[in-house]
Amino acid sequence: WMMVVFWWLVAADDMLYKDRNQPVAARVKDLLGRMTMEEKIGQMVQIERISATPDIMRHYFIGSLLSGGGSVPNPHATVVDWVIMVNEFQNGSLSTRLGIPMIYGIDAVHGHNNVINATIFPHNIGLGATRDTDLVRRIGAATAAEVRATGIPYAFAPCIAVCRDPRWGRCYESYSEDTDIVQSMTDIILGLQGEIPKGSRLGVPYVAGKNKVAACAKHFVADGGTTHGIDENNTVTNEHELLSIHMPPYYDSIIKGVSTVMVSYSSLNGQRMHANGDLITGYLKDKLNFKGFVISDWEGIDRITSPPHSNYTYSVLASISAGIDMVMVPNNYIEFINDLTFLVKNKFIPMDRIDDAVSRILRVKFTMGLFENPLADFSMVNEVGSQEHREIAREAVRKSLVLLKNGKTADDPMLPLPKMSSKVLVAGSHADNLGYQCGGWTIGWQGFSGNENTTGTTILNGIKSAVDPNTEISYMEDPNPEFIKSNNFSYAIVVVGEHPYTEMFGDSSNLTIADPGPNIITNVCGNVKCVVVIISGRPVVVEPYMSVIDALIAAWLPGTEGQGVADVLFGDHGFTGKLSRTWFRTVDQLPMNIGDAHYDPLFPFGFGLTTTSVTERSISGGNARRPLVLVILVSVFITLGLSHRYVA
Ligand code: BGC
Repeated sequence: WMMVVFWWLVAADDMLYKDRNQPVAARVKDLLGRMTMEEKIGQMVQIERISATPDIMRHYFIGSLLSGGGSVPNPHATVVDWVIMVNEFQNGSLSTRLGIPMIYGIDAVHGHNNVINATIFPHNIGLGATRDTDLVRRIGAATAAEVRATGIPYAFAPCIAVCRDPRWGRCYESYSEDTDIVQSMTDIILGLQGEIPKGSRLGVPYVAGKNKVAACAKHFVADGGTTHGIDENNTVTNEHELLSIHMPPYYDSIIKGVSTVMVSYSSLNGQRMHANGDLITGYLKDKLNFKGFVISDWEGIDRITSPPHSNYTYSVLASISAGIDMVMVPNNYIEFINDLTFLVKNKFIPMDRIDDAVSRILRVKFTMGLFENPLADFSMVNEVGSQEHREIAREAVRKSLVLLKNGKTADDPMLPLPKMSSKVLVAGSHADNLGYQCGGWTIGWQGFSGNENTTGTTILNGIKSAVDPNTEISYMEDPNPEFIKSNNFSYAIVVVGEHPYTEMFGDSSNLTIADPGPNIITNVCGNVKCVVVIISGRPVVVEPYMSVIDALIAAWLPGTEGQGVADVLFGDHGFTGKLSRTWFRTVDQLPMNIGDAHYDPLFPFGFGLTTTSVTERSISGGNARRPLVLVILVSVFITLGLSHRYVA
């Protein structure tokens, strides 16, 4: 009977980490206690799907996979293809001795942007202009549902950089130059992961369930403060600036239960963030009490040494010692595993550090229910690009537009435009280009051009469906002045801006509208009354054209729902957006942020003209008429009453 009891004990004990009714802390402790060093080190590795097979997952106990920008199962991958791929890898992980599920991560930074037909929301700069925290929560929830529908439980979002210089090619990933706005926009985490329950312990990660994802606040810290806005470069700052400008959004993210934090490629006062133990361990984990896991950026640890990867063993030592828990390797996983094993065996890295890292990773996996539901099913496939999500995106587009000028003089507003006119000209490279209006991080890493790669509504198509059927719309990308003069257009809508870009390719020292945009503006606006819509990831040079432009709108990178632009242009909704950034006059003023001495912008931070929607106008018109009607009625009654009395 002793044998029976022994086996019963072993079996019962075996169950503990698998028992969903046990507290997460107990499950983590139990599982950690069973793991070998190889199993622990494997948990700390995140590899790119392209380098992985289910066998590799099993053999090296790999804890996580990712799709980098544009890394898809096949170029025409459907939602079902995604689910099948993720599940295949997951089955590799589940077939290990302890059956620990891997966590698959992806850049879903404005919707599920690597996936064909997904809803693409405006990039963060546009969301900052809405100031609408309820909206970003709903965007977070919609994004989470679409990501989860493809079997993926982890999004590398939100980017909570406070971009201080628009020359930075990732400025559009930042909600604002203003810390308060970025802090408030971290509410998107509540949409991605779910509302954190009251009474939750500070810093403990929280993910509500099967239609939510683990979020990732990035890039820690001061990525938006590099000198001249050079990507991945050095931020020169003092403690006061660091703690008052760049750090506060991390504090908010932690309060909201963010599961992970990604470290920045940039350096702080010359020190690579990936080796900055004072801030990663000392500040983020110890002071701010962050209990989720810290992930490196893509080959981020390689760059601790110069040239990158020149002393990888040292990079592994410096980054893991600094407090990084999971390393986005993403391809040289064998080298990483060998180096980390060597460092632990030779006591360069204490086992406690490894246990801390693995506990954090397991904590997130247990909390989000990955052990209970490791495999995706097909029940959510219709979430991707659903009508409901597209409506939210369209609302976001409407609210993100900032009206910078409305009419040559204030008493002669051009907007909203009439839906009924004889002939309207639409011009510009960005009017009928879904890729341009989505920007970087869409389908391809650097974005795309044209209308073929995914579904959505271009601004031109939005305009066409908004106007009266009798209004003739002529679209010509680059019309010449003679053509414009010989046609009797009522007005023109010019849509120009920047071409898509993302990290490494987006830095710009001149911030100009892409050619032939400036010429189009001059040709069109010089010959017909015009509204110019700018599609860009940041303020661009417009001052030289202001005198010919009648109305000017900053539309940022609105995503797939171009109809939202037409909704506001034609007055179905009013303009409400406010600049979340300072709009400079000339690039030599940069960097220039609200609060700076010598602040002399073309349009200041917070600027944005308003218009009322057609419905609002008719309601207020109705209100204005109401007292008059009342006066007439009352007089009639009085007269009738009086006359009756007299009759009586
Ligand atoms: C970017 C991150 C991104 C990661 C994974 C890096 O190059 O800096 O923002 O999450 O790639 O794609």
